[in-house]
Amino acid sequence: MPDFDVVVVGGGPAGAISALKCSELGFKVLLIESGDVKRHKPCAGVLTPMCVDVLRSLGMSIPRNVMCSPAMLGLYYVLPNGENSGGRVQNFKFLNVNRDLFDQWLRQNAAESGVKILYTTEFLNMRESNPIRILAKQGCKIFEITTRYLIGADGVFSKVRKQLYGLAKVNFELISQEYWMAKGNFEDCLYVFFRKELAPGYAYVVLKNDLCLVGLGSPKSDYAFILTYINQFKKRLRKEFAFKPRSLVRNDVWAIPYAFLLHGIGNTILVGDAAGFCNTLTGEGIRLAIETGVAAGNAIQDAVSCDRPLASTYRDRVERITRFICRAHQFATGLTDEGREEFVNFELGRTPFL
Ligand SMILES: Cc1cc2nc3c(=O)[nH]c(=O)nc-3n(C[C@H](O)[C@H](O)[C@H](O)COP(=O)(O)OP(=O)(O)OC[C@H]3O[C@@H](n4cnc5c(N)ncnc54)[C@H](O)[C@@H]3O)c2cc1C
Repeated sequence: MPDFDVVVVGGGPAGAISALKCSELGFKVLLIESGDVKRHKPCAGVLTPMCVDVLRSLGMSIPRNVMCSPAMLGLYYVLPNGENSGGRVQNFKFLNVNRDLFDQWLRQNAAESGVKILYTTEFLNMRESNPIRILAKQGCKIFEITTRYLIGADGVFSKVRKQLYGLAKVNFELISQEYWMAKGNFEDCLYVFFRKELAPGYAYVVLKNDLCLVGLGSPKSDYAFILTYINQFKKRLRKEFAFKPRSLVRNDVWAIPYAFLLHGIGNTILVGDAAGFCNTLTGEGIRLAIETGVAAGNAIQDAVSCDRPLASTYRDRVERITRFICRAHQFATGLTDEGREEFVNFELGRTPFL
């Protein structure tokens, strides 16, 4: 008998929800997370209406204490054509959360449903036997865990993915995010700039309590390159929004998956960023992490009842999300200003109001 029915590697949204869903379906679940309870994830912490809906469908309502001020954000798009193209989108609302507290709340839900969580525990490697054998490390202790199913939810630089796919080529989009004590004429909005001269991918501004977060993404994974753009972007903010930065409180540089998708092999699957389920053109990943976490739980139930390999039932369960991601990849990789504008319209049409 394996130690667990399901082991989940990684305690971000994808891992926490996979673990929660599997536990609710009656499986014995272990989640291992390399960080501690308060681990920090670089993120703008903006949740789309669809993300809130997915959580609601799981009976989860986001508590007040994980929200930032302003809790609700409008959407302000700056589009490619001309100086004044874009503006505030009517009746459009996002939720503004503190990402670290949000993830803690998700893991707390998983723990309350019966998931065993080991913090400061790192996945090292695995053997694809039956049961699957995993080597993990906690402090200087290395130990083995056996499981029937393994879910790799260990983010964009996933070790589980590397184990499964070896040297398969994957690309990343680099995102730099600066947290400023600053002044500026910003409304309670997420400002998204889709202009090639401002950002090779996209740039954004969002207010977080008393801080102003300025972010920029680029498919070219070179920090010096991105820094040139972010400095130009801040100059533009000074001109258009009277942005006056006073002191830099934090600077995060992290990545999102760029146009790859790998579902898993045999009884090991990948969810969230580890698999590449992230919208390359907008940076939205939390909702997709949660949706693929739910799909992972359902796929395990299918695999048990139909006696099929997990990767095959999972592929069926994420078919709709896979189609959406492939469309986003097409936009991102063939990016022109017209393409960006078309994509923004596609996004706005797809997203219901909160
Ligand atoms: C700067 C930035 C801003 C973003 N802003 C937004 C936004 O506003 N809205 C949005 O929807 N998306 C945003 N995203 C995307 C979003 O953050 C990701 O898509 C989302 O976090 C993916 O969730 P995940 O659970 O798959 O991975 P993660 O959240 O990365 O979680 C992976 C977890 O695995 C753990 N881990 C890693 N390796 C190991 C190991 N070997 N052993 C054990 N544990 C391990 C990590 O510590 C981490 O806790 C942003 C991304 C970036 C980089």
